[in-house]
Amino acid sequence: MLKLKNIETFYGNIQALKGVSIDISEGEIITLIGANGAGKTTTLMSICGIVPPRTGEILFLGEPIHQLTPNKIVALGICQVPEGRRIFPYLTVLENLDMGAFLRNDKAGIKKDIEHMFELFPILAERRNQAGGTLSGGEQQMLALSRALMARPRLLLMDEPSLGLAPLVVRQIFEIIRKINTESNTTIFLVEQNANLALKVAHRGYVMENGRITLSDSADRLLANEDVKRAYLGL
Ligand code: ATP
Repeated sequence: MLKLKNIETFYGNIQALKGVSIDISEGEIITLIGANGAGKTTTLMSICGIVPPRTGEILFLGEPIHQLTPNKIVALGICQVPEGRRIFPYLTVLENLDMGAFLRNDKAGIKKDIEHMFELFPILAERRNQAGGTLSGGEQQMLALSRALMARPRLLLMDEPSLGLAPLVVRQIFEIIRKINTESNTTIFLVEQNANLALKVAHRGYVMENGRITLSDSADRLLANEDVKRAYLGL
C-alpha cells in the first residue's frame, strides 16, 4: 500500500533521513520505533508532504506521492493524527469531529460515523458540546484520533499517541487502535517511543537510528530481540 524507497529528507543543511525504505501492506499495523531525534516524526512529515524528501520515492497504491501537496495526499486517503494532539481548542467536540469530515459530503454517513466515534469513546459523547481545549490530555488524544477517522482514511499515520498520557488511557487508546484495524481494515503506521506497547499491537516493526532503518522484523521477533530489549524495552 505504501512504499518508501530510499528517501532522504533535509531541514536546510541538516539531513534527518539518510535513505529510508519502508513497506506497508494493506491491513497491517506497522510501527516505527527509535530514540529521540532518530527521524521518526520526519518520516511521517515526508509521507504527508509537509517536509517532502529531497531524493527517493514514496508510492501509495503504486502511484508516486512524494511531489504532491499535503491536501492532495489527504484526499488520497492518508490521514495523520499529529503529535501533541492539535485539536481545535475553541471548537466543541462535535465541531472537531465535523471538521475531520471536511472532504466528505455524505451527510448521513458523517452522522453515522460520529455516532460510531461516540461508541468507541463514550467519554466524547458526554463531552460533545464542550470546547476541545477544555478536555484532558487523554480525551484530546481520543478526539484527535476520532477526528482523523472521520476522514475515513485508508492509511492512518499516528505520531506518539502515548505521549504524556496515564498508563490506563494509553492502554485504552491502543485497544482502540487494534479495534480500528480489525473492524474497518484501516492500515496503521504508528510512530512510538513506547516500543513495548507499540510492538504488542503491531504486526511488524522498523527500528530507526540516526535517520536510518537499522532493523525490521515481525513484532514478535523484535520483542524477543536482545538488542531491541536492551535499547528500547529497558530489559
Ligand atoms: P522524537 O521522538 O524526539 O520526536 P524523532 O525520532 O521523531 O524524535 P525527528 O523529530 O524526526 O525525530 O528529528 C530528526 C532530526 O531532525 C533531529 O536531529 C532533529 O533535531 C532534526 N529536526 C527535526 N525538525 C527540524 C526542524 N524543523 N529544523 C531543523 N532540524 C529539525
